[in-house]
Amino acid sequence: MGNASKKIFSVLHYVANKVQRPAVVLLYHRVTTLQQDPQELSVTPANFNAQMGHLASDYNVLDADRFLYHVKNKKAFPERSVFVTFDDGYADNYHEALPLLTRHEVPALFYITTSKINTSYELWWDDLERVLLTDGNLPPTLTINIDGQTWQYATGTLTAIRETYYALQQVLRFCKPAVIESAMAQLYEWSGKTATGRPSHRLMTWEELRAMGNTDYAAIGCHTHRHPAVGMLSYEEQYTEIGMSKEILEGVLSAPQVHFSYPFGGRKFLGTKRYYNADSIKVCKALGLQLVCANYHGQVHSWSNPFALPRILVRDWPLDEFRSHMQQFFKY
Ligand SMILES: [Zn+2]
Repeated sequence: MGNASKKIFSVLHYVANKVQRPAVVLLYHRVTTLQQDPQELSVTPANFNAQMGHLASDYNVLDADRFLYHVKNKKAFPERSVFVTFDDGYADNYHEALPLLTRHEVPALFYITTSKINTSYELWWDDLERVLLTDGNLPPTLTINIDGQTWQYATGTLTAIRETYYALQQVLRFCKPAVIESAMAQLYEWSGKTATGRPSHRLMTWEELRAMGNTDYAAIGCHTHRHPAVGMLSYEEQYTEIGMSKEILEGVLSAPQVHFSYPFGGRKFLGTKRYYNADSIKVCKALGLQLVCANYHGQVHSWSNPFALPRILVRDWPLDEFRSHMQQFFKY
């Protein structure tokens, strides 16, 4: 977004917030300390602890039922309403985030990608990082076939490897799951590494997920089976991906699932709806999902579309930075 459109955007939000008090949905992925975090998706436990303490003392944190009630019934939110969400289903959500949420009595909703739950495999972007960025001992070039097209990348220097990592990240995020799986298989072969992932990047086990669902401060939602950009899939493929995660979670948790978030979740990429589209919304409705979060900047009001709600991606911000971001969202 350019500076001018950013300004217009924030003016629009200011006006909307004047008309009605907003709610803000926060998006987290991981709470842990990593050796490297090229996607910047992890918040350290110390910063998360401070952030949750701030929410508990200065904001009105809604739980999943309460948030759903307001969105579904188009009711204005209470003053300074915040809703905390997590995407993907990492084990640290249970081991590191949940104890801090419990300490501060802050409820959160956890959206789960089901295909790698209870396995020793990593989600593909972590796997890509593991293969390329955790050990410099790689062949000097990489030739890889992605969806019938052959690509060549330099991998002879650390800078080249890093560039290759970011380039492949961009290409693979818009590929179908089978194409990503084939690309990863070629990368294992090329690097001499196996598919087995790092314990630091594993997802929850079924037991951890069940235990999480049984606590007072966690609710569970779906996030597809294999984490594709659903806007790149046909209606039927979307139905399968989203429906499968819903069915698996309902089986494991013995509870109906009504929450979903789009993988990646941006509104548009280079002007096209690659992350989700009109079919995605139809699929969610057909599956009986009731509240769906996307991932673009904005506040929620009673007139917001419950099938594509904006969320704010929280980075590893120290308390001061977190506090000032929160103040910005609630300006009115
Ligand atoms: Zn995700």
